[in-house]
Amino acid sequence: MTGDEVFHRELRQRMSGKILFDEPAERHASIGVGGPIDALLFPEDEREIAEIVRFLRERRVPFLPVGNWTNLIVRDRGFRGVLISLACLRNLILRDNGKDGMLLLAGAGCPLSELVSLTVREALSEMAFCAGIPGSVGGAVRMNAGAYGGEIKDIVETVRLLDDLGVIRRVARKELHFAYRSLDLPAETIIIGATFRLRKGNGMMIEEQVRKIIETRRRKHPLAFRNAGSIFKNPPDCPAGRLIDECGLRGLRIGDAQISEKHGNFIVNRGRATAEQILGLIELIQRRVFERTGHVLETEVKIIGE
Ligand SMILES: Cc1cc2nc3c(=O)[nH]c(=O)nc-3n(C[C@H](O)[C@H](O)[C@H](O)COP(=O)(O)OP(=O)(O)OC[C@H]3O[C@@H](n4cnc5c(N)ncnc54)[C@H](O)[C@@H]3O)c2cc1C
Repeated sequence: MTGDEVFHRELRQRMSGKILFDEPAERHASIGVGGPIDALLFPEDEREIAEIVRFLRERRVPFLPVGNWTNLIVRDRGFRGVLISLACLRNLILRDNGKDGMLLLAGAGCPLSELVSLTVREALSEMAFCAGIPGSVGGAVRMNAGAYGGEIKDIVETVRLLDDLGVIRRVARKELHFAYRSLDLPAETIIIGATFRLRKGNGMMIEEQVRKIIETRRRKHPLAFRNAGSIFKNPPDCPAGRLIDECGLRGLRIGDAQISEKHGNFIVNRGRATAEQILGLIELIQRRVFERTGHVLETEVKIIGE
């Protein structure tokens, strides 16, 4: 259905933003693999997002929101359905909340790096842990992104969601169910924006904290190659990277997909890797780690498509 002319026309009638049909995911995904997406939409504002979601639901067309594609692997035969980019939602507003500190209101499409820069400029603490995470606000909330002792759930105050009826509603932190690297939401629910509660801190210390985190990331992560961040969630008692190292898997390759020589929990694309090669390495790691250590490694990256 998503390939037919009538559907294409109907989409064009409803969208003033850009539409890419049969768009290769490899052009967008940070790891540089993935087959054609039936339609990749770039709505221009919240109203257009809500309208398009209503239309897709009516037509029973599968769809998913996407942010910066930094935690996403699309299989080689692509995605039958629609991906909706939230890139247009870039609003960023800082509000004084009196004795309760400051509130930072951010659109889902804002890169976390912009929030980190703003919090450094304004000497606001608690967001430094996001330094170097290349995702968007929507993706970070959806994944409950975290590092260096912080997680999105610790600073989020409210989240604006587009619900099943196409209505945008604000949901308070206490009604949201965060877990390690996830927020419990139906896959099609779209995060429109989020509010973060932050406190004033020592500007120089915050800047130093951010600088150190970036430096550590450059040292430890294989940033010279395309990748999708940590492939596996860390089991409660041991980092996934250490288990992978213990099994002697660092550096192992299938075609151009390689378990990073620098960090066992990263798979890098050395040039022309395919999703099949990357998924092959993921399965191999899961099997070897289980056989040798008894740990079941669960993927952190989202894998979609056919
Ligand atoms: C070099 C590198 C380092 C990384 N380091 C870290 C790290 O330290 N900690 C960490 O937690 N992650 C890390 N990541 C992974 C990734 O950056 C985060 O998970 C990030 O939050 C994903 O955001 P995104 O916008 O790229 O999401 P995407 O990859 O676009 O999407 C990820 C998932 O979120 C959903 N999603 C995206 N936007 C929305 C939305 N608006 N509403 C609802 N659902 C949405 C998608 O459907 C998908 O299921 C790293 C990645 C890389 C490449």
